[in-house]
Amino acid sequence: MEERVGRSDELGEGARREVTVGGKAVVLLRSGGALLAYGGRCPHYEGPLAKGLLHDGRLVCPWHGGTFDAATGGLLEPPPLAGLAALPVRVDERGEIWVDRPDDTPRQRAMPMAGRDPADERVFAVVGGGAAGAAAVEGLRQHGFTGRIVLVSREDRRPYDRPNLSKDYLAGSAGADWLPLRPQSFYERHGIELRHAEVTRLDAATRRLELGDGSSFTPDAVLIASGALPRRLTAPGADLPGVFTLRSWSDCDAVIAGLEGAARAVVVGASFIAMECAASLRERSLEVTVVAPDEMPLAAHLGPEIGGLLRRRHEEHGVRFALGRTVARLAGDVGVRELELDDGSRLEADLVVVGVGVTPAAGFVENVVVKEDGSLDVDGELRVNDQGVWAAGDVARYPEAHVGGRARIEHWRLAEQHGRAAAASMAGRGAPFEGVPGFWTEQFGLRIAYAGVGRGWDATIPVGDVSGGDFTVLFARGDELLAVAGTRDLDVAAFAELMRLGRLPRAGGVADAAQAGLVRLL
Ligand SMILES: Cc1cc2nc3c(=O)[nH]c(=O)nc-3n(C[C@H](O)[C@H](O)[C@H](O)COP(=O)(O)OP(=O)(O)OC[C@H]3O[C@@H](n4cnc5c(N)ncnc54)[C@H](O)[C@@H]3O)c2cc1C
Repeated sequence: MEERVGRSDELGEGARREVTVGGKAVVLLRSGGALLAYGGRCPHYEGPLAKGLLHDGRLVCPWHGGTFDAATGGLLEPPPLAGLAALPVRVDERGEIWVDRPDDTPRQRAMPMAGRDPADERVFAVVGGGAAGAAAVEGLRQHGFTGRIVLVSREDRRPYDRPNLSKDYLAGSAGADWLPLRPQSFYERHGIELRHAEVTRLDAATRRLELGDGSSFTPDAVLIASGALPRRLTAPGADLPGVFTLRSWSDCDAVIAGLEGAARAVVVGASFIAMECAASLRERSLEVTVVAPDEMPLAAHLGPEIGGLLRRRHEEHGVRFALGRTVARLAGDVGVRELELDDGSRLEADLVVVGVGVTPAAGFVENVVVKEDGSLDVDGELRVNDQGVWAAGDVARYPEAHVGGRARIEHWRLAEQHGRAAAASMAGRGAPFEGVPGFWTEQFGLRIAYAGVGRGWDATIPVGDVSGGDFTVLFARGDELLAVAGTRDLDVAAFAELMRLGRLPRAGGVADAAQAGLVRLL
């Protein structure tokens, strides 16, 4: 059954429009002259694709940067794990567009994956079932690998959506069913073995893996995707019950269990995770105070304009700040009850969440140079060495293609991009990694997207109304544009596209162009 959704001559090249067919959102596109129709929501978090960017045959979701091949709907860039299902579309002799009702059509298009071939005796191991590891095991099958895939993770869970932990899950607005990336049956169907065990030792010269359960094996290739570990406070009392860090699902469940009967929370640190935790705990009606040495939350990453906005946003929602302060001591009997700060002031607390950064988790890797910060250097294809060892995600320092030098970046989407790229390389189809990094944060309903690599910025170029929440901030070093952050999704997507194509303008004079929208520079 078809529905008429508009006229063909209304949709010029590059147009995208959301229409409703059979009660469902559908996006109509004109790309490369062709008229195309897909399910209108991103498979990741239902971002409205018609508000995204369409350029160079790529359709970019406005919310988190998921990217699809406009001609086929195929997935090009995470965070979605699937492509878009195409809907039959035709233009009649009068120029009217007709789209098939999507009722019986799947909204997502699964990525083509090779099957497991029992005759293929190769074994590839992936250490860590987070963003990079989960993307890699799927990527191996997508790149035609038919041998055994063993995903070893010390978490007693199958891969899940870590960024949600500090947001809806901690706030209580998303249940546990939101978190897993795939059902168990997915891994069984694709012959991906999940082993819940800690890797206690990896000899990078021989690839021999030793596991906490006493077993060991030597795969033909291994990917280190072990992420990072949260740093802890060193102040006396930091190990009292009721003092938490947040990295894993079970960490988050422990915080939620600690909320029972709690009225006052202190969040230590003004990192993204700390600020998101503060917002989520406030949404659970706790009294929340953020203690951090910074003068302004997140200003080192996002600049004073956005830092100020986030501080105000939190304060409007009742979060208190003790900035420019560190924790001298934590005290309590059966659990934490009080924090003493470096100026002698005291804060009462029923629970404390510490978000003061992470350390790459490569302590189990031997026979390779582990950098001072705990990370591993990789080459352009994410290889650690020529002995069949790769690394991806938070643990990897990789050659950054757009601003130069090496970067170790803690972003969900980048870790997934790395995982996919490492899988391609392991399967013999590697290419230098050139993904544009990007992330997002969400605090009290304000979603800020970011693209680029802002490390070393020395000037911000704010455009629009930052305090009103409708803005773009560009980050520059001298005349070089490095990154963008803001609430104008199309600007962020356009910046990422300009960076991908190597066509970013110089910083001087960009403010005027940005007023009219960065998309005009494409
Ligand atoms: C609460 C929270 C919120 C976040 N929000 C955002 C966000 O909004 N946007 C964004 O871009 N990024 C966000 N991030 C960052 C993002 O989640 C990380 O950058 C990303 O998960 C890194 O992926 P990874 O695969 O390198 O590591 P991880 O996802 O941490 O996965 C590593 C896995 O390896 C396992 N592991 C470690 N050592 C071993 C071992 N020796 N043996 C076996 N298994 C091991 C770990 O248990 C873990 O399961 C957030 C992070 C957290 C913690």
